[in-house]
Amino acid sequence: MELTTEAKEQLDTALSVSGLRSTRQREHIYKVLLTRRDHPSADEVYARAKQEMPSISLATVYNCLDTLVECGLVKRLNYERESSRYCPNDGDHAHFMDEATGRVYDIALPEDFEKVVAKVLPDGFKANKVKLSFTGYAPVDLESNRVALSAK
Ligand SMILES: [Zn+2]
Repeated sequence: MELTTEAKEQLDTALSVSGLRSTRQREHIYKVLLTRRDHPSADEVYARAKQEMPSISLATVYNCLDTLVECGLVKRLNYERESSRYCPNDGDHAHFMDEATGRVYDIALPEDFEKVVAKVLPDGFKANKVKLSFTGYAPVDLESNRVALSAK
């Protein structure tokens, strides 16, 4: 399976802004992340990547993930006592980590979210970014990650 033209363009643009070129491996890892947006760990990305690219090494997967994070296409999520998870940057959304299952859900945010939250800052503070991360319990019947995103 190939990256869509749009995803390929996004990748090429993001990499070239960082002075990097697209490689087969970087494309493949990006595609793996876009295919199943369930916030996999690096090990999970590696297992999925190997299905179509058996020669890829775990070190290469880590390098590709680092590159994708550095060029802003992918977010790295860190949770205590857990390995990092990866999320293809899909615009602004919050994350919800289910403490029972370890699953991470995307939560859509209202458009004016950043403005509203920025109001808590004292005068003179200017935020460039706000990250919102919940932990708790998701409803048990939330089968797919897409459910949470579209439940806005
Ligand atoms: Zn996400």
